[in-house]
Amino acid sequence: MAAPSVPPSRADSDLGLRARAELAVRGVAIDSAPASSDTVPEPRGGSVTELGSVIPLRRPGGAGPSADGHVLVDGLRTTVPIVADSPYRLRDGRLVRSEPGGGVTDMGVAVDTVARPAFYDLCTADGVGYEQIARLHGNDVLASTVVQTCVRYGAADRCRFCAIEQSLHSGATTAVKTPDQLAEVAEAAVRLDGVRQMVLTTGTSNGRDRGARHLARCVRAIKAAVPGLPVQVQCEPPAPDDLAALAALREAGADAIGIHVESLDDDVRRRWMPGKATVPLAQYWTAWDESVRLFGPDAVSTYLIVGLGEDPDELVAGAAALIARGVYPFVVPYRPIPGTLAAGDGVTGPDPALLADVTARVAAELRAAGMRGADQAAGCAACGACSALSAVGG
Ligand code: SF4
Repeated sequence: MAAPSVPPSRADSDLGLRARAELAVRGVAIDSAPASSDTVPEPRGGSVTELGSVIPLRRPGGAGPSADGHVLVDGLRTTVPIVADSPYRLRDGRLVRSEPGGGVTDMGVAVDTVARPAFYDLCTADGVGYEQIARLHGNDVLASTVVQTCVRYGAADRCRFCAIEQSLHSGATTAVKTPDQLAEVAEAAVRLDGVRQMVLTTGTSNGRDRGARHLARCVRAIKAAVPGLPVQVQCEPPAPDDLAALAALREAGADAIGIHVESLDDDVRRRWMPGKATVPLAQYWTAWDESVRLFGPDAVSTYLIVGLGEDPDELVAGAAALIARGVYPFVVPYRPIPGTLAAGDGVTGPDPALLADVTARVAAELRAAGMRGADQAAGCAACGACSALSAVGG
C-alpha cells in the first residue's frame, strides 16, 4: 500500500462523525490478524498498543452488535466490524482509505488498538476460562451475557439482528454464568487490567422477571467482591405484575439499567423482532419510568437501531420522547452479524450518511437536555463504543 496522501483537515466534529459512521457501517479490513485473541503478544492488560493493521481485541458473535474489533478512535472507544473488502485499514495508528485509483487517503483520525487483557489467561478452579465468562469491551469495560440462551431464539420469534446463541454453539462461552464465576472474573479484571465498569446482559427467560432475578444475584456477588465497580444490567421489561424485579436489581446494587427496545415503530418491531414485538410498547414505557424512579437520572438507557427501515424523522422524534422521560437513546447502526437471520438474507447496513444524520440530530437533542452517555456510571451509554453519539457530545 502506498504512503497516505495529504491528510484532510479535521477541524470540526462533522468530519469525525462522518468517519465514524463510515467505519461503523463499512468496517475495517485487516491484513493479518491472530485467528483469535489468544495469540497476541505483549503488551497486555487493557493497555493501548499499535500493531499496524491488526486488531488484537475482538469478540465472536453473541448478543448485541458483536463480531467486531475494539479500537480507540481519537481516544474514544469504538467497535468496528471486520470486513475483508472494506476500503478502510489501519496504518501506523491512522485510519486510511484505499481509493479506486490506487491512492490512499488518511481519514484524519488516530486509531489505537487495545491489547489482549491478562485475565483472559486465567481459568476457574473447575476449568472454565475467564474469557468464556466475561470479555473486555473497549479498553476498560467488562461485559458478560449471563444467560446465553433466549426463549425467543426459535426461527419464528428470533430478532433478525441477534446472534446470542452463536458464541455458545462455537464453544466461545458457556450457557449460564454463575454469580461466583462473575465475581471471580470481575475481581481479576479490575486488578490485572484496570477494568472500570461492567455490563451484564441476558437472554430472555420464560419467567415473569425475564431473567432479572438471576442478574440481581450476579450483581450482588460482583459488588461483594469488587464494591467500587459500577455495574449496568440489561434485560427485557418484566411482566407488568412483576415490576418488583426492577427493584430487586437496584437493591442488589446495580448502578444503571438498559431496557432495549431497538425501535419504537411497531411495524419495524414486528418485522425485525417478532418475539419481542409481542411485548407492547406500553410495557417498555412502564419499565423505563419505573427504572428512572428507582435508579435516578443518567442511569436508564435503551438501544435504537438505524437501518431497520424506520422513518428517520420518527426515529429522532422517538429519541426525543425517550430523553424527555429520562431515558438515554443509544443510537447504533444495524450490523449484518454472521449467524443472524438478516445477514443470512443478505441485508446490509444503513447508508453511512443516514447514520451520521440521525446520530447528529439525536446528539443535539441530548445536548439540549444536558444528557451525556458519559454521565452514566456503567453500561453501553457510558462506554459509547458501539455508537457515534459520544463523538458529537451525546
Ligand atoms: S457499547 Fe456496549 S456492547 Fe458496545 S462495546 Fe461498549 S459495552 Fe460492549
